[in-house]
Amino acid sequence: MLKKYKVNLHVLEACNFRCFHCFSRFGSNKIMGLKDWKQIVDNCMESQVVSEFNIAGGEPLLYKDLIGLTKYIREKGAKVSMITNGFLMNEEWIQKYGQLFNTIGFSVDSVNDETNQKIGRCINTGSVISASRVTKLCELIRKYAPDCKIKINTVVTTRNRDEQLSDFIDTIKPDRWKILKMKTFVYGTFSNMSLQVSAAEFDEFVRQNKIVNEKTRIVVEPDMKASYILIGPNGWLLDNAANEMTPVEICDCKKEKLKEGLKKLTLDEKRYCNRYAL
Ligand code: SF4
Repeated sequence: MLKKYKVNLHVLEACNFRCFHCFSRFGSNKIMGLKDWKQIVDNCMESQVVSEFNIAGGEPLLYKDLIGLTKYIREKGAKVSMITNGFLMNEEWIQKYGQLFNTIGFSVDSVNDETNQKIGRCINTGSVISASRVTKLCELIRKYAPDCKIKINTVVTTRNRDEQLSDFIDTIKPDRWKILKMKTFVYGTFSNMSLQVSAAEFDEFVRQNKIVNEKTRIVVEPDMKASYILIGPNGWLLDNAANEMTPVEICDCKKEKLKEGLKKLTLDEKRYCNRYAL
């Protein structure tokens, strides 16, 4: 067992965007308070196998206790990262809180506003976050929180498979660019299967998106199976090895130590280490 795992805390399912491919579907609108998440952090840290937490959603900037949770994790001596669509972030927020994070990641699937609307990467009125605004937010993070790393996540679907993001990436020069093949799911009557790209189309996207800057490390993920440690909005550890579409709840992290959950979790350590360059 590794000593330094990164645990993803999906603090809520809700999001201000409505990406059609979004796999943040945990079947729960429940939003746990800070007390429960602190207990989960304690149960993870007591096991002495966790070095970092990634706060995710939904959209974590909608979670009212985001900063309280972030500060608590830091007090416990672990690193904190966050993945956001960036729409609710501004200069004031970055100035106040940017330095609390070791990494801030932005999900960017397209640099084209129309494509983002087709993806559903927009609010109800159709407003998107433009590529230039993401670039500006990254500049502000470098200004106010120079130690904070920057990450970009891109999910490849039928709606952006022909997209060229390499110039955007070379402009920002994030520390990491993660390119993911869309994870499929069927959730009740809703499914994202029609947006799925083939393995060849995904490979072609990666091939066409060569970057020239030497700062950015590219991580390519054709699937997410058994290579993440995910805790859902209800505080349960999830195992997606058997069925990526519907992960199984295997441990209530509010009550049990994470170490116990990890004994039940199917984790491909080779792929896990490859993602985080361990
Ligand atoms: S921004 Fe992220 S969490 Fe929100 S709908 Fe899109 S993929 Fe889902």
